[in-house]
Amino acid sequence: MTQGPPRAPLRHAEMAQFPVEGDELLVGGMRLSRLAARVGQTPFYAYDRALIAAQVAGLRQALPAGVKLHYAMKANPMPAVVAHLARLVDGIDVASAGELGVALDGGAGPREISFAGPGKRDAELLQAVAAGVLVNIESAREIAPLARASSALGLPARVAVRVNPDFELRGSGMKMGGGAKPFGVDAEQVPALLADIAAAGLSFEGFHLFAGSQNLKPDAICDAQSQSYALALRLAQRAPAPVRSLNLGGGFGIPYFPGEARLALAPIADNLALLAQRAATDLPGASLVLELGRYLVGEAGVYVCRVLDRKVSRGQVFLVADGGLHHHLAASGNFGQALRRNYPVAIGNRMQGDALEPVTIVGPLCTPLDLLAERVTLPRAQVGDLVVVYQSGAYGATASPQAFLGHPACAEVLV
Ligand SMILES: *Cc1c(COP(=O)(O)O)cnc(C)c1O
Repeated sequence: MTQGPPRAPLRHAEMAQFPVEGDELLVGGMRLSRLAARVGQTPFYAYDRALIAAQVAGLRQALPAGVKLHYAMKANPMPAVVAHLARLVDGIDVASAGELGVALDGGAGPREISFAGPGKRDAELLQAVAAGVLVNIESAREIAPLARASSALGLPARVAVRVNPDFELRGSGMKMGGGAKPFGVDAEQVPALLADIAAAGLSFEGFHLFAGSQNLKPDAICDAQSQSYALALRLAQRAPAPVRSLNLGGGFGIPYFPGEARLALAPIADNLALLAQRAATDLPGASLVLELGRYLVGEAGVYVCRVLDRKVSRGQVFLVADGGLHHHLAASGNFGQALRRNYPVAIGNRMQGDALEPVTIVGPLCTPLDLLAERVTLPRAQVGDLVVVYQSGAYGATASPQAFLGHPACAEVLV
């Protein structure tokens, strides 16, 4: 048997989006210890407004000009973040009447809001029609309440059909299309649904396809977008009105774990340019839309908690922090991950520290699940130091069980 060369350990992608000044990380241009004082408590999430704007600008520069960019706000529904993004993107995608309210309050124009989700209540559908937003129909059941809302308000409901495609997004962290799914209407049932939409007098505007989330493989994203386009084109032949909006989903991922690299946009941009060119003749007047959550906000956020204790157990160093799983379920590895891996972390007030040691960072909850980083090498930390979890701008505070074990809630700031 031959032995290959020793494999280099996998590293995290470089976290260079936040500059360092002296020993401290800068978030929103402010030293972390000062920001913590300004916030008035740890733990907190901080989102950097300039980084969010730069991410949108970078994407716009890479993508063909006509492609519309929407923000899927479930990734980070903090009202200040939604209002910030509402000024930067072309539309907001909401998934409940609660999110709809935040988007409208944040200044998003109703014509550019779309509402998706598998279990829309009749009252939510009425709110959506009254607001004048586009409803992505996910079930034939939604037609009757939409028709009732339309006649009660004297406004035809604006609708698109969310299609559950007959393919899956390869290489996606969470699959949300293809096979048997609670999301969308199976492609083969869509022609009948389109006839029912016409009969009910709803205003048909297009199609919505969303194949999955957290994808770092450009080829897989291109495939899904091309297949989504082809499927929408076939279905458009049965549509009661011209397609005005073709939402091809998104699923753009960000690097969280060792060995993952940032998504290459160039191949996706080339493919979208091709699709946009075809759409200009196949579906005149239709806009191509991408809806992205994590990609727009994930890298712009950090979660910050403070070291409460430094314990040594049988030779292993544990940093016990005041934050953990209850605020950041994803970093603990319990938000849909099959295998627990560490998010990138730092000691935010010892960025230049050179006395390194291997540590495990845990939270204050009395459960072994409350783990923020396992056996990572960091500058030697003391009680009072600030633990930073990078890549925390998406699926953080609102995707975590904050009431679990009765510890205080986290704060959130946009700086
Ligand atoms: C969750 C969701 C998104 C956003 O996914 P990200 O991976 O955060 O970009 C987009 N569209 C729909 C329909 C979703 O459910």
